[in-house]
Amino acid sequence: MNSASRWSRLVAGGRPSAPKETNREADRDRQFAVAATQAKAPVLNAPAPAFYRFKLGTIEATVVSDGPLSIGDPKNTFRGPTAEELSKMMSDQFLPTNNVVLDQNVLVINTGDKLALFETGMSSVKRNDDMGRLVANLKQSGIEPADVDAVIPTHAHIDHIGGIMAADGSRNFPNAQIYISQADLEFWTDDKRLGTPAEGSALAARKNLIPNRDRIVFYKDGQEVLPGVQAMHTPGHTVGHTSFVVNSGGKSLFVVGDLMHHVILVERPRMEVGFDTDPKQGIETRVKVMDMLAAQRMPALVYHLPWPGIGHFAKQGDGFRYVAEPMRLVL
Ligand SMILES: [Zn+2]
Repeated sequence: MNSASRWSRLVAGGRPSAPKETNREADRDRQFAVAATQAKAPVLNAPAPAFYRFKLGTIEATVVSDGPLSIGDPKNTFRGPTAEELSKMMSDQFLPTNNVVLDQNVLVINTGDKLALFETGMSSVKRNDDMGRLVANLKQSGIEPADVDAVIPTHAHIDHIGGIMAADGSRNFPNAQIYISQADLEFWTDDKRLGTPAEGSALAARKNLIPNRDRIVFYKDGQEVLPGVQAMHTPGHTVGHTSFVVNSGGKSLFVVGDLMHHVILVERPRMEVGFDTDPKQGIETRVKVMDMLAAQRMPALVYHLPWPGIGHFAKQGDGFRYVAEPMRLVL
């Protein structure tokens, strides 16, 4: 049997049949088999560290995971394509066709003067133990939650503000001020959201924002919220959704938030997103911002794209192409 047909049997899940006659290749295969059965190292059953550290100019940046967030059938999220078209788009990305799974990549920056984090995950409202891991993972990365000065969610959805508080109602970041837009605070704490499909985020806002009202600072479009961190109002996903440009030493990183939250939106950015408060405005903002990032070749941190969510957007056809930045494991 030639090697090509043995490989195709292997990828089909079958066992390669033994060659008819003994040769050097078969001897080597047998040696590997013996080595495998003699291996005695314990199975570690421990996940990889859930943080990634890099430099941005003089800023020390760390992406810390809150864990994956499953949001179910793609047709609940993406509007426009038929169910079959959506299945094909998911399958073309080698993803399950019946469940959208989002990463939650929290960016932490240490400017030397301030320790700030963007987004907070789900710890007060977690649905299972895969999520709500931000605090444990921060500690694993060497960052003490009590040292955080500023918590900067891009908007007030459940998976962005849900980790301001812990499940037991205590504060995860007891010494931090919380930066959010006035429009989102008012929208998501309004009684009108109760009893609607947006209720989950409304309840999370009550649990996480209202008890911290005296710690909230409103950010505004164009404002430098911290030295080197500039707010850019990017509405549509929510009324007050805001992205940020982080600048240091001639380097920039764009904190996208949820303008772009799944790989199938990269190629088809004009699909409506079910969770957008104003889906048409969401499309307009998404295309405008991705155009800007492509033209300026500015790297982006995307909360929900595959870990650690850092990469570039380039123009391709009517949409874009996402190129993940190589992870660098030497600082
Ligand atoms: Zn989100």
